[in-house]
Amino acid sequence: MKIQSVRYVLSAAAPSQFPKDRLAEVAFSGRSNVGKSSLLNRMVGRKIAKISQTPGKTRVINFFLVNEQLYFVDLPGYGYAKVSKAMQRGWQRLIEQYMEKRPNLKAVVVIIDARRERIPPADLQMIEYVLSLGIVCIPVFTKIDKLTRSERAALKRNGFAQLPARVEAHLFSALTGDGKKELLNTLAKYLA
Ligand code: GDP
Repeated sequence: MKIQSVRYVLSAAAPSQFPKDRLAEVAFSGRSNVGKSSLLNRMVGRKIAKISQTPGKTRVINFFLVNEQLYFVDLPGYGYAKVSKAMQRGWQRLIEQYMEKRPNLKAVVVIIDARRERIPPADLQMIEYVLSLGIVCIPVFTKIDKLTRSERAALKRNGFAQLPARVEAHLFSALTGDGKKELLNTLAKYLA
């Protein structure tokens, strides 16, 4: 898949605001600060998502129209410790309202920090949740530019082994662009 155009369409704070045109969608999810905005920006080759947004502000779901035919959907980051439990529950509910009633949602990319030896439980929970809805889940280990060659090999051995059997994991770096082509190809497969 080649990205020819991308534009911001809307931010939704409630299901009534989600786009109603039923175009195919791919959603991007991850813990706060994991590198989701950087990954999105690198994928589309433009600064569409804000990097290092101050957490604690109202969180919304952002919809970006790609090639005038599909949406990249930027979900609120989860697991940010410094906001109230009530706010976290609010975002969680919005994410669930989105994922559970979206027949045009073709895949969810779950972004994970490649530098952790164990995949954080919140990320594994998100992956299991997506799979439980019958939606394709694509875990992406990002910031691999911070790993040595042998650490990357270890990640493929040990990190991938911690994932559920059905998923196809990817490595990525927003800094170098490593893994971008492979991820775009995988997305194209599920969007077709
Ligand atoms: P978000 O909160 O998940 O959207 O995370 P951001 O995209 O704002 O990234 C958080 C921090 O990690 C920023 O300082 C980024 O510059 C840095 N970062 C994100 N992706 C990468 C990457 O692939 N490599 C490196 N070295 N740093 C990254």
